Amino acid sequence: MKGNGAPDIDSLWRAIAPPRRDEVRQLDGDIRTDVAVVGAGYTGLAAAYALQKRGIDVAVLDAHTVGWGASGRNGGAVLPKFRLSYRAMASQHGLATAKAMHRIAHEGVDTVEALISEFNISEASFVRSGSLRCAHNQTAMRALVAEAEWTRDTLDDDTLEVFDRDQVTAEIGSSVFYGGVLSKDAGTVLPLNYARGLAAGLKERGVPIFENTPVSRIERTKNEATLHAPGGVVRARRVIVATDAYGHLTEATSHYAKLMIPFRTAAIATEKLPPILFDSLLKGHRSYNETRRMMKWFRKADGRVLFGGRGVLGKESAHEFAALRRALVSTFPQLVSARIEFEWSGNVGMTVNQLPHIGRDGDAAVYCLGYNGAGVSLSSVMGQAAAALAIGELPELSLTQADRLQTIPLHALATPAAKLAASWYTFLDAIGR
Ligand SMILES: Cc1cc2nc3c(=O)[nH]c(=O)nc-3n(C[C@H](O)[C@H](O)[C@H](O)COP(=O)(O)OP(=O)(O)OC[C@H]3O[C@@H](n4cnc5c(N)ncnc54)[C@H](O)[C@@H]3O)c2cc1C
Repeated sequence: MKGNGAPDIDSLWRAIAPPRRDEVRQLDGDIRTDVAVVGAGYTGLAAAYALQKRGIDVAVLDAHTVGWGASGRNGGAVLPKFRLSYRAMASQHGLATAKAMHRIAHEGVDTVEALISEFNISEASFVRSGSLRCAHNQTAMRALVAEAEWTRDTLDDDTLEVFDRDQVTAEIGSSVFYGGVLSKDAGTVLPLNYARGLAAGLKERGVPIFENTPVSRIERTKNEATLHAPGGVVRARRVIVATDAYGHLTEATSHYAKLMIPFRTAAIATEKLPPILFDSLLKGHRSYNETRRMMKWFRKADGRVLFGGRGVLGKESAHEFAALRRALVSTFPQLVSARIEFEWSGNVGMTVNQLPHIGRDGDAAVYCLGYNGAGVSLSSVMGQAAAALAIGELPELSLTQADRLQTIPLHALATPAAKLAASWYTFLDAIGR
């Protein structure tokens, strides 16, 4: 059941997904539409819905199937946050900006909940159970508490609760952490079911979604974009590029991938656990993560424990999954004999300023990407903002607004540079700094 990077990865999410209620359809012939969306992950699907609701013709194209990218592979934590802290935003850009960003992130969670309810995606199992961030040492705990107090006092956020060491230990069934902060507004979702449910609902509303349809070339004039794919040509007044960390798949979108630092993150899932063991772990049924630079996350689903983490670069390997399993067992020694039944990984769009980017590329194109590992909620809300931007509205974008397409200089060197950074961060984590 191992993930091998092939089109249909064998993630736990794919194994437990109910049969699709919609048919997979490829582009077969030329079409004309108002807006073409490239990418059928949360960004592209949320953008398409925002347009359909306004009565605008829209078509979605994906090189693979719905949710094949990060949207079908992620940990399913629906988080009201960006990678950059609100406190850092306030000190760098002022309090009003931090407040606007705080609002956007919390709207992200509300958007996921609203979309799931509007599209009746009960199989996404959305629960607003919260997310517990666990401190891996005393210094990290002090920083977590200071950040939570600042956010509560300055942004009037009453959704954060500090847990002491005993509370964290009692809830998660591991004594390795020094305490934590619960974000009560967060939730969990079954990620692939969410993406597929959005797609099925869009099709019911008349939005065509063409799968296994890689866009190989995009020609743009001031008023039109022409998208070329093996099955035909799509002519549109606007194109929304929603390819996030998978833009490298074809020439047409590869320069958008260069706005981000290439990072991959992996996940493993245990076999179904005996009920007594299962019930003794992660009792809050939330999403969990920790404060190490090479952050690990964990949660429960389908009677199993899932454990994932950053720090995997280059090609998937048995070695990296073995490292993840070692980290799982050192956090939860009770799982030493639990078999690992699923291993998979996916690309994460990391940006230099640790914030998502939404912007125009000429008159006919809008791109929206770079969620830095917090994309379930952010892509759902920002996809809608991308749609608004594409049709000339002025959505509140705050710090996510990208003024111009700014690819990372010497992008080819970004992978080796990221590898070096990752090994340095792993070293700092290991020595407790
Ligand atoms: C293992 C993992 C765990 C994660 N955990 C979490 C988490 O717990 N919480 C959280 O908030 N975020 C998490 N993330 C991040 C989150 O999944 C992403 O930010 C989010 O799914 C991005 O959605 P998207 O629609 O922008 O991109 P994607 O879902 O990646 O979709 C992009 C799509 O574009 C298509 N595409 C690319 N190029 C072309 C082309 N030229 N033509 C046609 N189609 C093309 C691809 O086939 C793909 O389907 C995680 C990511 C990974 C990989």
